[in-house]
Amino acid sequence: MRDGGESEGLSADLLAWYDRHARVMPWRTAPAAKTAGERPDPYRVWLSEVMLQQTTVAAVRDYFHRFTARWPTVAALAAAEDAAVMGEWAGLGYYARARNLLKCARSVMADHGGRFPATREGLLTLPGIGPYTASAIAAIAFDKAATVVDGNVERVMARLHRVEVPLPKAKAELTRLASTLTPATRPGDYAQAVMDLGATVCTPRNPACGICPWMAPCAARVAGVQADLPRKLPKAAKPVRRGTLWLARRNDGAWLLETRPEKGLLGGMLGFPGSAWDGAGGDAPMPADWQDAGEVRHTFTHFHLYLALRVAEVPAGAVPVRGQFLRRAAFSPADLPTVMRKAHDLAASALAPHGTALAP
Ligand code: SF4
Repeated sequence: MRDGGESEGLSADLLAWYDRHARVMPWRTAPAAKTAGERPDPYRVWLSEVMLQQTTVAAVRDYFHRFTARWPTVAALAAAEDAAVMGEWAGLGYYARARNLLKCARSVMADHGGRFPATREGLLTLPGIGPYTASAIAAIAFDKAATVVDGNVERVMARLHRVEVPLPKAKAELTRLASTLTPATRPGDYAQAVMDLGATVCTPRNPACGICPWMAPCAARVAGVQADLPRKLPKAAKPVRRGTLWLARRNDGAWLLETRPEKGLLGGMLGFPGSAWDGAGGDAPMPADWQDAGEVRHTFTHFHLYLALRVAEVPAGAVPVRGQFLRRAAFSPADLPTVMRKAHDLAASALAPHGTALAP
């Protein structure tokens, strides 16, 4: 175990490195700007952290720019139409997070006078903010000495301290080690510095030890085992779930759509009528000359989804037993969740262009 002085030396070396090499990010207040007195905007920090739960920094940038251009403050987001926010979220993954985003913005306005709580404990009371996100916002937005541990930080800690126990078993130990290094001064910059180190220098493959501020004290580098850490238990294969979607297009171009139930994946989103994803509830939403149109595949975090598509062209006046026809002008396929958009594109190409007959 490292003593307090050694830990302070390590965090000081990393902060000095961060002052020179911090990544530029649209939600980040750069170290020089902070020195000049600028403070991070908790709204932007929170929004970026929720988005980063889903995907990479590179993928989040565009979403972040679009969200903040359209809703520059938490007040603006709280007042947004649900459907507009869901539409902007499309492609970012789980819609439960987008729904919680709105709930959280509204709670900040209704219960906290329009300001995010400044402590980890206060942040944890908000919808959609779990322990990791609360720590990240407390550290980055409010400079609280919260320990922030993501995959990057786990990797760096496993190497710096040469932890040979595999993940996920080693998580608690890696968090403890990370907490011993969190400094009392500049904890927000420190949290971002470890993440940057893991993302740009101590990368999963081929860590660039030669330019690392922790090269000398790094136990894995000294032993020559850095590329093998952190060790990981083999992952279980993702299961496959299957179902059916029915895509009916009226001959005036309107599509049969429905709002999915609030609970569950893609909850509250617009989609095509379908069976449950274990195949249950497999009845067509209306009588029609249904034809096979192939299959869409989509991978969620915990499973692969294969949906068989059944398509039909139906006449004006046809009445569905489930869902309702939406004129093509009343929705944009881009607003559909990704799996539904894939289904729409495949069905549209399987149906004849003018909606009169199936393509050969
Ligand atoms: S010396 Fe190498 S392995 Fe160790 S923390 Fe730095 S980049 Fe990672």
